[in-house]
Amino acid sequence: MSLPSRFTNLGAAILDIMFPARCLLCGKQLRPGTDILFCQSCGGRLTIIRPPLCPCCGRLLPDSAASHLCGACLRQRPAFSKARALFIYDKFSAPLIHEFKYRGRTTGQQTFSALLRRSPVRLELNIPDLIIPVPLHHKRLRQRGFNQALTLARSFFPQDKQIIRADLLIRQRWTTPQASLNGRERRKNLRNAFMVADSSPVKGRNILLVDDVFTTGSTLNECATVLRRNGARDIQALTLSRVLE
Ligand SMILES: [Zn+2]
Ligand SMILES: [Zn+2]
Repeated sequence: MSLPSRFTNLGAAILDIMFPARCLLCGKQLRPGTDILFCQSCGGRLTIIRPPLCPCCGRLLPDSAASHLCGACLRQRPAFSKARALFIYDKFSAPLIHEFKYRGRTTGQQTFSALLRRSPVRLELNIPDLIIPVPLHHKRLRQRGFNQALTLARSFFPQDKQIIRADLLIRQRWTTPQASLNGRERRKNLRNAFMVADSSPVKGRNILLVDDVFTTGSTLNECATVLRRNGARDIQALTLSRVLE
């Protein structure tokens, strides 16, 4: 073992004693060295997404024996080729997203990265040339102080910092928060909301969009549409969670 890693281990051990790991959901103290910060009971309530899924949008198909295109994707294929999420957004996981998204709680980052490493959907995504977090409007970014999608992209792909680009896709128009709108209103609300700042790095590239929650997919679809219009070859999407429809 080299000296630096021995020191790192020692550092981690000291940190574990000073700040014992706690469950992200209920705060229960966990045994040191765990990378997924859920106690057994909370971890068991989290619904990890696994096939069968719609191969395109990643919708869960609990009643099917095998993966197949869902009705919505058969009617109209989205601008992204594939979207995947790690777990279901429900009453158990919502506080986790809320703490992370609105309060900037960063203790979840190693958990998110570990969840991705163990996710059954991880291998379904191609290795991208560029990773682009869904952008916030600059006014919202000022209010919140950080873009949760960028934080998430960095936690998911700690080894790929050089291909994470938060400057290429811009939210140019202020939009009503999507949560209060239905599917059609969401799509209308997002029209011309995004633009590509510089299309040359995007042209011919395989892009992975990252966001926190997949609700109707309209935000990711709008981002993918704009990227495609600017010459991107393929666009996939990865979110932390997904609303069960
Ligand atoms: Zn717990
Ligand atoms: Zn689908």
